Amino acid sequence: MEKDLTLHWLSVPGYEKVLYFKQPSVQLEGYIAIHSTQRGPALGGTRFWPYSSQDDALTDVLRLAQGMSYKAAGAELPLGGGKAVLIGNPNLLKSPEYFHAYAQVINQFKGSYITAEDMNINTEDIRLIAEKTTHVVGRSDKSGNPSPWTALGVFYGVLATLAFAFPHRDLSSLSFAIQGVGETGFHLLQQLVEHGAKNITISDINPEKVARIQSRYPFINVADDHTLLSLPVDVLCPCAFGGILNAHTLPTIQAKAIAGSANNIFLDLEKDPQRFHEAGILVAPDYIINAGGLINVFHEFNNDLDPKRLTVEVSKIGERLSRLYQAIKKTEINPFTYSLNQIIGTF
Ligand code: NAD
Repeated sequence: MEKDLTLHWLSVPGYEKVLYFKQPSVQLEGYIAIHSTQRGPALGGTRFWPYSSQDDALTDVLRLAQGMSYKAAGAELPLGGGKAVLIGNPNLLKSPEYFHAYAQVINQFKGSYITAEDMNINTEDIRLIAEKTTHVVGRSDKSGNPSPWTALGVFYGVLATLAFAFPHRDLSSLSFAIQGVGETGFHLLQQLVEHGAKNITISDINPEKVARIQSRYPFINVADDHTLLSLPVDVLCPCAFGGILNAHTLPTIQAKAIAGSANNIFLDLEKDPQRFHEAGILVAPDYIINAGGLINVFHEFNNDLDPKRLTVEVSKIGERLSRLYQAIKKTEINPFTYSLNQIIGTF
C-alpha cells in the first residue's frame, strides 16, 4: 500500500461499508459506499465529479449506492448495490498513476465492490483501472458501451407501459416526446421508429444531437426543452437528467404515461411519486426500466457475452414492469417507496 494513502472507514446507518480515501501524491480523493451485498457483490460505477465539498460527494455516493441495490434487485440479478465517487476535475487529474492508485483502493474490498463506468469515467479509464484490479467491468474489449442495452431495456419498458396505459392502441397511433437524444435517447428513438412510431417530438440542448436526428429522421418534430414537457402527447420519455418530475412540472405535464432512461426522475422522492399517482399519470420506475446497462455488465462479470442471451435478459425488463403495474393496481402501493425487501419480494 502507498505510504501516503489514507483510508477512513465510516459508520453510516443502512450501509454495509463506506470508505473515504485520499492519496495526495496523485491527488486521489473519494468515497466508495456499499449499500447492500444481500444478493451478491456490490456492482456500481465510479463517478468523477468536481464536488464542491466532501459532504456533497458523500451524499451523492450514498444515494447512488442505494439506487444500485434497487436496480440489481429489480433486475433479479445476484448483485448488491455500491458506488464510488472521485472528487476533483477529471480533465486535470486523470493519469495512469491516478487510476492505478484508485484500483488499489478497490482491492481493499476484496471483490465485494466491483466498479464500472459512470459520469466522466470512460472505457480508457476502465482499462487503466483493470491493469491493477480484477474487480472491474465495462471494458471496451468485453461488454463495451452499455447505452444501447439500456435503451433496448427502456424500449421494452415503454412497450409494457403502453400495454398497461393504452391497452388497445399500437405504436403508430400514439404520440411520444423524448427529452434528450444522447446515447440512450437516440437508441430509444431508433427502436420506436423501427417498430412503427410516427408521431415523435424531441428536444436536446445540444444542437448537434438534434441535427443528427433531423438528418436521419426528417419527419421527427423538434421542440424547445421547456415546451417539450408540456406537449399534449401520450408518452413522455425523459432521457436526459433527473428531477424533472416535481411539484412545479406536474401541472404542465399532459402525458398519460412517463417512461424513459433518466435516473432519479422525481425531485422529491417522498412526495412527488404520490402527486403523479394521484394525477393519474403512470410513471415507470427508473430503477426497473433503465437496468439494461447493468444487465449488460453483469453478463461481462459472468463471462457471458452472447448478444442473443443478453437480448432475452434485457427484454425481461418489460415483463417485470408489467408485473409491477399489476401489483400496483391491486395494492395501490407506490413502487417508488418500496423497500429493498419489497422489491426482492415482488420479482
Ligand atoms: P447522454 O449524455 O448521452 O445524453 C443525454 C442527452 O440529454 C444529451 O444529448 C444532452 O445534450 C441532453 N440534455 C441535457 N440536458 C437537457 C435538457 N435540459 N433538455 C434536453 N436535453 C438535454 O446520456 P445518456 O447516457 O443517454 O443518459 C441519459 C440518462 O439516462 C441519464 O439520466 C443517465 O443517468 C441515465 N442512464 C443511462 C444509462 C446508460 O447506459 N447510458 C444507464 C442507466 C441510466
